[in-house]
Amino acid sequence: MISKSLKGITAEIPHGVGCIQNMDATVNKDVPILIGELTILRRKEIMGLLLMIFLMGGFMLDNNFENKDGILYIGGVSVEKLKDKYQTPLYIFDQKSLKNRTKAFVDNFKSLKFDTEVVYATKAFSNLYVLSLLNNYNILFDCVSKEEIFVCLKAGVDSSRIHFHGNNKSKDELEYAIDKNIGLIIIDSVDEYYLLDSILNEKNKKIDVLIRINPDVKTDTHKFIQTSNADSKFGLNIRDKNTKIFISKSLKNKNMHILGFHAHIGSQVKNLDFFKEEAKIMLKYMKEIEEDNSYKFSHINLGGGFGTKERIEDRDLDIEVFLKDYIKTIENLLVYYKINIKNVGIEPGRSLISKSGSMLYTIGSTKKTLEGFPLIFVDGGMSDNIRPSLYDAKYSSILANKLNNEANIIYRVGGKLCESGDILIDEVKLPKVERDDLLLIPYSGAYTYSMASNYNKQRKAAVVFVEDGCDYLAVRRESLDDLISRDEIYKGEINERI
Ligand SMILES: *Cc1c(COP(=O)(O)O)cnc(C)c1O
Repeated sequence: MISKSLKGITAEIPHGVGCIQNMDATVNKDVPILIGELTILRRKEIMGLLLMIFLMGGFMLDNNFENKDGILYIGGVSVEKLKDKYQTPLYIFDQKSLKNRTKAFVDNFKSLKFDTEVVYATKAFSNLYVLSLLNNYNILFDCVSKEEIFVCLKAGVDSSRIHFHGNNKSKDELEYAIDKNIGLIIIDSVDEYYLLDSILNEKNKKIDVLIRINPDVKTDTHKFIQTSNADSKFGLNIRDKNTKIFISKSLKNKNMHILGFHAHIGSQVKNLDFFKEEAKIMLKYMKEIEEDNSYKFSHINLGGGFGTKERIEDRDLDIEVFLKDYIKTIENLLVYYKINIKNVGIEPGRSLISKSGSMLYTIGSTKKTLEGFPLIFVDGGMSDNIRPSLYDAKYSSILANKLNNEANIIYRVGGKLCESGDILIDEVKLPKVERDDLLLIPYSGAYTYSMASNYNKQRKAAVVFVEDGCDYLAVRRESLDDLISRDEIYKGEINERI
């Protein structure tokens, strides 16, 4: 059913396989009107939508969101139907929006001067469904563990299209990657270099590698998602003179072919000038090393971290404009530094996946703080989205079953987990909320499911993809039995009991 990806060919995944369209989606096929990039609206809904925009203070019309009589539809499927079918909390991915985003990356990060690679950072969101879907587009996959590699391979990704990252790859992991003929290993430390060399010697194998350089670009994001300041745990620091000595030595290695360098400056970086600065620093460095060693590099990978919208009111990164501009910058730098590189890569994670994903919750209890601030509680929380608790990520939300009601009350949205820090949204304006209402947190597809836990023995939520009125289960919700499926009962003697 799913066609294999071939280099240079972008095949459309056949959707609709196994789906009988909803009645809802097949009616009203009259005169689709294109508004914005992705949203197809029907004429009679325009008024409702204009009202919705007004009520929600400029709610951006993307992700194939529609308002039908006050109920939110995503990809032509009602959130009420999704709740009934899959329960909440629920991860919902707008499949068409994801496909368009993926195409936008692949089609716009292109140059006539060199080959390009878009490498998806799978840690942002990975499971068989999404990986096999993305595998239909001309992208590669970045993994940071044996486990992520395993899942990619099971999804049908060719091992040559997998890159292996990580600051502490174990011997077992490196052996696994080598045995599976992984396309590229990115060396993070001198220590790892020696470990990899000894494994290659033992196995009498050769492999292509990049060396991860920390270019010391200090971004303006949360400390936990910066990766490129001087004391970062990732890569070899560009200002450390030992780095150059090490690189010179590694270029002579017989087991490893050093194709070039890798750098990744952080995550959720919205000031795009940082990426240009990174490219400049890296290419200048590359030139110095080429000259010092009479060596020609062929590859550079500039990582990911492109900032993306997380709240409804945020401005989205214009990926097409950015990528075209980025390519131009890189082309100019290559001319300036007289470098003849063959391949330039980027590694989007969040910016590729986040926008198409939403979380759906059911509201339970409500209460007021001592000061009278209204709290509403949802049936999930930090177990399905730890980012607000972990590094203060900011989301917005909409009352998905009351889109036509006026949003006039400021609420705090709390989860149900036993931690005071389990607050999903500090303040959000919503219509008056009642028990069993549905709350949707849009643009939450990245680092949510992939960071989910079973804290308070919460069952991990289901993941569903929607497109053109059809819903496709990607991951089923954990069952009660799943929770104990790996547990053992204590089998001590009866008489131990007091
Ligand atoms: C996490 C990571 C990425 C992706 O970062 P995003 O912020 O999700 O784009 C890319 N490259 C490397 C090496 C990473 O560790």
